[in-house]
Amino acid sequence: MLRKTAVPDEELEKGRQAALRLHDDISFRGLSYFIESYGCQMNDHDAEKLAGMLHACGYRRAEEKLKADLILFNTCCVREHAELRVFGNIGALKKRKEENPSLIVGVCGCMMQQKDVAEKLFKRFPFVDLVFGTHELHRFPALLESALNGERTLSVTQSDGEIAEGLPVERSGRFQTNVTIMYGCDNFCSYCIVPYVRGRERSRDSADILGEIKALAEAGFKEITLLGQNVNSYRGDGGQTSFARLLRMANSVEGIERLRFMTSHPKDLSMELIQTMADCKKVCNHIHLPVQSGSDRVLKRMNRGYTREKYLSLVKALRESVEGMELTTDIIVGFPGETEEDFLDTLSLVREAGFSAAYTFMYSPRNGTSAARMDEQVDKAVKKGRLERLNRLQAELLRQNNERYVGKSGTVLVEGCDRRTTPMAYGKLTSFKMVYFPGDETLEGQLKRVRITKTQSNSLLGELIEG
Ligand code: SF4
Repeated sequence: MLRKTAVPDEELEKGRQAALRLHDDISFRGLSYFIESYGCQMNDHDAEKLAGMLHACGYRRAEEKLKADLILFNTCCVREHAELRVFGNIGALKKRKEENPSLIVGVCGCMMQQKDVAEKLFKRFPFVDLVFGTHELHRFPALLESALNGERTLSVTQSDGEIAEGLPVERSGRFQTNVTIMYGCDNFCSYCIVPYVRGRERSRDSADILGEIKALAEAGFKEITLLGQNVNSYRGDGGQTSFARLLRMANSVEGIERLRFMTSHPKDLSMELIQTMADCKKVCNHIHLPVQSGSDRVLKRMNRGYTREKYLSLVKALRESVEGMELTTDIIVGFPGETEEDFLDTLSLVREAGFSAAYTFMYSPRNGTSAARMDEQVDKAVKKGRLERLNRLQAELLRQNNERYVGKSGTVLVEGCDRRTTPMAYGKLTSFKMVYFPGDETLEGQLKRVRITKTQSNSLLGELIEG
């Protein structure tokens, strides 16, 4: 859907003014914050924006949660029992708040957009000062100001969501980072809660995205991951700019060495995009392409919009077009109505596609989704058994996949150094494989050629190729 609704400038200005009013007093008092963030990369990136706004308000990051003057829970509703876990962790702060009444406790994130959850939480935990939804992120400094003035605030709107440009971001990485290109989702996969809590699809303008990437390149970032619930349906600039075109534009930003993106919905993966991946040197030879099931019957019930055959044809096209292409995926087992035969179809697809990693889940119902209302829920023991079988197969395929790298060389962007034994530098190949090799912190942020010498269960071992 072609939609771009911007948060009005005056709204953004209110947030900036609130941060300015708070800044001197908060920084003089040396107040600190701690953000506990749950869920996906989109949520992690929201946490970086929340941190950016807190820094603009004068806060500094606390090392430990219980030493912070402000604790913010950035919740996620996607995982099973998420509500139970978050409510438990918030409840555990009651004593801390009694000892330190000036402590500010806030809760935000997509769980707060779920029907009645924010209200329930606000009522159940009177010591929580502010609760706000994902559509209110830009209002955070103003809400915080009210909380610091002793007001309890609950601010959740059920809208399709808007785009807030120019929020400050406190990035956790130094060389790799994420840039959100679109928000929301229109797909309504029958098991998924995201479209209900994150709103309809809306794409940022390409100029705003490229401006952000250029600024990151100037700040020394080398690898960018373009983020969205379904980046393949990105339609920026009033529908004029496709994701493939955006990727070509990002590929020309000087200083950026690598581009990745996630998540890609198979039904929207175009040949234009595959060709772009093949043409653009900086676009990595890896794609995360969630398949979810290998059975056409189950894919239909999941409302995924593609068949097994279509998916496998995309895998073939990707492998034929992009050298050394690696695919990772997500798979749900035990979807309502999944038979043993359906599950065997998933196993055979996994063998055929040859994923280098699969994030596997047992189906569990999410309130408000159509799959939760389906008959034929699969018995938990059956789901568990299928998950084990799938994981065993994928582990064996991963072992074989890793073996193929031994003796080959590639370039690693060094992310850090593990000093548990001998210092080992680590980072990823363009294919998303993690490699460890002897080296120290001085290599961080550099692109280094390595030769792969051995495999480990989830990573590779290598040695530096001098010169
Ligand atoms: S594409 Fe499907 S699984 Fe992904 S966020 Fe949208 S509805 Fe959820």
